[in-house]
Amino acid sequence: MVRKVGETHREFKARMIDPVSESFCGAKWYNATIWLGHGGTTSCHHPPAHQIDLEEIKTNPSAIHNSRHKKKMRKMMQEGTRPKECEYCWKIEDMGKDADGNEPVSDRVYKTVIYEDRDLKHISTLDSNSDVNLKTCEVAFDRTCQLACSYCNPAFSSTWVKDIRTNGGYQGIKSDARGHFIDDAPYAEPFDRGEENPYVTAFWKWWPELSKELEEIRVTGGEPLMTPSIYKLFDWFKETDEPNAKNMRLAINSNLMAKEGLLNKFIDATQHIDHFHVYTSCEAKGPQAEYIRDGLNWDIWTKQFERFASEARYEGVHMMMTINALCLDSITQFLDWTLEMKRKYGHHVPGISVNILRFPSFQSPLTLPDHLRKMYHDEISNWLQAVRDRGEKSEITGSELLQPWEQDQLSRLIEYLDVVKTPHRNTAEQDLLHHDFKVFYEQYDARRGFNFKETFPRLAEWYDSIAVKDISDDEINDIQSPDSHGITNTLYAKRIVTEDGEVKVVEMKVRGRQTGESDDDYDDEKYKNEDDYKPNPNIKRKAGSSIGWDTEVDGLGGAVGNE
Ligand code: SF4
Repeated sequence: MVRKVGETHREFKARMIDPVSESFCGAKWYNATIWLGHGGTTSCHHPPAHQIDLEEIKTNPSAIHNSRHKKKMRKMMQEGTRPKECEYCWKIEDMGKDADGNEPVSDRVYKTVIYEDRDLKHISTLDSNSDVNLKTCEVAFDRTCQLACSYCNPAFSSTWVKDIRTNGGYQGIKSDARGHFIDDAPYAEPFDRGEENPYVTAFWKWWPELSKELEEIRVTGGEPLMTPSIYKLFDWFKETDEPNAKNMRLAINSNLMAKEGLLNKFIDATQHIDHFHVYTSCEAKGPQAEYIRDGLNWDIWTKQFERFASEARYEGVHMMMTINALCLDSITQFLDWTLEMKRKYGHHVPGISVNILRFPSFQSPLTLPDHLRKMYHDEISNWLQAVRDRGEKSEITGSELLQPWEQDQLSRLIEYLDVVKTPHRNTAEQDLLHHDFKVFYEQYDARRGFNFKETFPRLAEWYDSIAVKDISDDEINDIQSPDSHGITNTLYAKRIVTEDGEVKVVEMKVRGRQTGESDDDYDDEKYKNEDDYKPNPNIKRKAGSSIGWDTEVDGLGGAVGNE
């Protein structure tokens, strides 16, 4: 953090942000998430992604970040106008005061404070047409992944794509997730295998320049260990004479289920990186983990985790827990396993973060009936109390085994299970969520060879009691468009991301292509009010600013602990 010693976030805001303008935020210049697979970019992760212009990147590869759209938002921020897409922050600020009666601190403060004063001063008056090198970058090269977790979807996993292509779309899901399991998300992979992806090409063209100042690059996926680009990046760290390579932090989100050969390559690559972090995920134990994270093998995964912990060179090993309805059944056993690892490798291996899944809302913990929620609430609460009572310290590092910030996150989950009644504000009624829960897992069992009731015996009685009844569209019109939801495996769902970051299916139509579905008029509509926008019939724009749901907020891979 680049705050003065003893300076609070509010004091930092008054010193560095407010003098620039009422809407200034460093993330718009220095931070980006870029989905190179289909050419989407955003900064920070709250605003919906927008499409990268294929023409622009031909002459300016940095336009994978320095897009015309972002430049417009930057200008607004220098002038004190609030970009609508940043509503996430304005809502917090417009609350007026937080629970303690103080001025609320929005994310733009947290996302600006990480940069040096001199860098913030530089952009505060910089011509908004200028290009800026990123300081923190999250990038996904493609969606190749050997897992197909129940809460993921085809936009992030090629194994999910395989399920849909083999078995067709999931039928009968009616709440907010209904568009996400019906097609193979062709917008997420508009280029055929072997075809050059111009966004990836632009990234590598920009890299020699970008790498001079980049402080952190985080690679997500898909599964990064399955994309050739990650090995190109590893080789760069090994061979480069760029001085900044010594300072740059490389982080990857990996499911750690790579085949042995790739894992060896991965562990070897870390030896040449000075600041390496791995983020992996799990939240349940044994067969329950294998059910939720289809493709994971608990024995192999734990073995590979330990191989990484003991053989790799790293600064951080992070466990991102995605809290869903099913993991609560063995979450305390999983937490016991994390303590076992911490005893063996130090209090920070792994550091755990607790990310509560919001989408698809029928898989949210809040879909569970009250009596089960109460049972899990009590189990986690008792577990945490017992750990606190023991106050165990790591024999290796001397620090508390479960760090205060990890305890806070669990405490927040306990509170969440108790008081928050709906997964997100546009959520469907509980009946509808129960309906979708059962409809989904019945199909999931049939396709994946699982057995819900055998895997989750404590949920079996409730599961049996869920009546899958006919719910007419009239009852669900207020949840999400479209009005019709005929589902066959040839349907294509066109999605948009609202200013709230919510993914909406706005249209469904029969697809004409196997992959690479495009909606050329989509961007025309999106940019039609921009002064400088001239629709060019020769530019083929690929559809799909939306890539599913938010990877960070919805616990699919981005959340960072407070370590
Ligand atoms: S949503 Fe907030 S933190 Fe993100 S770019 Fe906008 S103002 Fe910055």
